[in-house]
Amino acid sequence: MKLPLAYYGNPILRKKAAQVEEINADIRKLIQDMIETLDAEDGIGLAAPQVHRSVAIFLVRQPIFERDRRTWKPGELHIFINPKIIAYSDEQWENDEACLSIPGIAGIVSRPVKIAVETTDLEGNRITKEFSGMEARIVMHENDHINGVLFIDRVKGKERHEMDARLREIKKKYHSK
Ligand SMILES: [Zn+2]
Repeated sequence: MKLPLAYYGNPILRKKAAQVEEINADIRKLIQDMIETLDAEDGIGLAAPQVHRSVAIFLVRQPIFERDRRTWKPGELHIFINPKIIAYSDEQWENDEACLSIPGIAGIVSRPVKIAVETTDLEGNRITKEFSGMEARIVMHENDHINGVLFIDRVKGKERHEMDARLREIKKKYHSK
């Protein structure tokens, strides 16, 4: 079942998400619904707070671009439960980011090139995975979501300033009653 998205201005996007205590039927259903929502939105990542659930779960499925560099197909799906980023490379790179919860806005964010993440799999095992490049970027963007941080918080200077008007519009569109 596709779930409704939470948009910029919704306080759930600013809360630190709770840890998952047990991978029960409710959590499995949430993850299944999040996968269906990711598919429906053509997304590359989705965190539980973005579908109104303040728990430490997110999905990452990096885009694999075709040779024309514009069309893409979804890569391998990674499911994160109670993730913790345990190592970051010193080397950083800049790239545009966007977010399903902040429609119509993109901005340049600097992030480490490589990370290692400790996470729980669906069977409840604690495992460590390494990511680099675009996939690592998406993992960090989604991990920010479960800590109440949005990519716009990491956009610097003039570019961030220029987003203000559009952010106010989004807030008004989705939250004025
Ligand atoms: Zn996002």
